[in-house]
Amino acid sequence: MTQVRRPQYVRVPIPHRDAGERVQDFSEVALTYTDDQAVLEAQRCLQCYKPACEQACPNHNPIKAFLAMVAEGRPIEAAEMLWEHNALPSCTGRVCAWENQCEGACPLGRKGEPVAIGAIERYLAEKALAARFDQPPSLRGPWPSGRHAVPPGDVAVVGAGPAGLSCASVLARKGWRVTVLDAWVVPGGVMSYGIPEFVLPKSTVAAEIRRLEGLGIRFVQDVTVGEDVLVDELLGPMGYRAVFLGIGANEAVRLGVPGEDLEGVVSAKDFLMAVARRQIGGAAPASGHDLVGKRVIVVGAGNTAMDAARTARRLGASDVAVYYRRAREHSPSRPVEMALAEEEGVRFEFLVAPSRFVGDGGRLRAIEMARMRLGEPDASGRPSPEPIPGSEYLVPADLAILAVGYRVERTLGDKTPGLETGRGGRIVVKDPHGLTSRLPVWAGGDCVTGANTVVHAVAAGRVAAEAIAAYLEGAPAVAGPVPRAGGG
Ligand SMILES: Cc1cc2nc3c(=O)[nH]c(=O)nc-3n(C[C@H](O)[C@H](O)[C@H](O)COP(=O)(O)OP(=O)(O)OC[C@H]3O[C@@H](n4cnc5c(N)ncnc54)[C@H](O)[C@@H]3O)c2cc1C
Repeated sequence: MTQVRRPQYVRVPIPHRDAGERVQDFSEVALTYTDDQAVLEAQRCLQCYKPACEQACPNHNPIKAFLAMVAEGRPIEAAEMLWEHNALPSCTGRVCAWENQCEGACPLGRKGEPVAIGAIERYLAEKALAARFDQPPSLRGPWPSGRHAVPPGDVAVVGAGPAGLSCASVLARKGWRVTVLDAWVVPGGVMSYGIPEFVLPKSTVAAEIRRLEGLGIRFVQDVTVGEDVLVDELLGPMGYRAVFLGIGANEAVRLGVPGEDLEGVVSAKDFLMAVARRQIGGAAPASGHDLVGKRVIVVGAGNTAMDAARTARRLGASDVAVYYRRAREHSPSRPVEMALAEEEGVRFEFLVAPSRFVGDGGRLRAIEMARMRLGEPDASGRPSPEPIPGSEYLVPADLAILAVGYRVERTLGDKTPGLETGRGGRIVVKDPHGLTSRLPVWAGGDCVTGANTVVHAVAAGRVAAEAIAAYLEGAPAVAGPVPRAGGG
């Protein structure tokens, strides 16, 4: 193995595909370290006595230990150790906001660049998956589907997103029979139908799910709890002893301005899901979504907006612009995502918001934008944008993609007696482990915190699983960290 001495404060660069090349296809943008690069980068770790990176990770991953193993050239052992704590390392190793989490706390970052913890996590997780599967697995089923496919079991996990998968993983390792029920055609939650292929490949999500199947977890797709089957039925006639709800926050928020129902105005969720559905089905991503030569406006500036804008570029749109009502520095997106989007030709307009969608024959033709000024901070702590009277102007557009937030779908809450829900349909939890008002039902992830991140959902599923296991064994619930909202 190469043992070149590098300056301690300079990281091994993470390889990326060139913007001109990557915008032509849906293949991954960030590439993985080679063995030598990973070893060199892991050797930069100071092996702090009290690793601040682990405290800053919402899932408290064993970062110090896995970096030491990689530095010694033992990535597979490192991966197996990490996997026991984090059910989805090759996903978090791609999508986490490390700069605000683990890497933000690395002491090397005070004088130079922090250890590239995320890139190393991705590297070791990928090595372990490659060692397990000869071919990258497919997400496409067939998955058992519908109410009649639900087998007997101990714990029913509702939602196959990161919260549900993490919860199922911990419980299955402890020997409980776990069934994951999900409303969509394939498991993975937002990782499958929201986050695009060029950020998180479907084959990576599939490999993580197939590995979880190997723990004995059963998956049933295309079954909506609250409609096809009720929580009361799972806990009653179907014989489950506990339920975990990880149903996410998947109902797109609307702007509430005139013209929003015009053809050509879509939610980012519907737009990204349509592309993902085609990719999972094996069809070319562009088919039926021909944006060649079109002008696309994305409203909002979070992760979803960046993903939608970059997807529109890949579908051939000639002009893609992101319009955001606050200033650049208030954007909820990771700066790196904005930089990648800009490299790919996406334009940004700040301090503007749509006041009206203008149509012709029921189809979008233009958007009336109002310029904004920033006022007093709102509940989010950011200055609240206010329209400047008389500042409206028209922007021609063929497609408007709205990425202005999500709330929790209410049907399951309404159909589950005793389950308390709160603002935006969020499920109210009574303790740090996600115990709801309805025993024995726990909840975690976006359906509790509101739209958040993959690693927060993984952490919530893990701590809830510990409490569910303690409940099933007849012991009092265990104590542990509380996943917080909005941490990255
Ligand atoms: C476009 C987009 C990009 C994102 N990018 C990032 C990123 O780069 N990094 C990051 O960390 N986070 C990102 N996020 C946020 C992240 O994806 C979520 O925080 C995370 O997926 C939440 O996990 P979850 O398990 O709580 O819910 P979800 O992932 O939403 O999964 C919920 C699952 O529950 C199922 N379900 C819902 N209702 C029912 C029901 N009644 N019965 C059965 N099943 C049901 C759904 O089908 C879904 O599969 C992004 C989100 C979006 C939308």
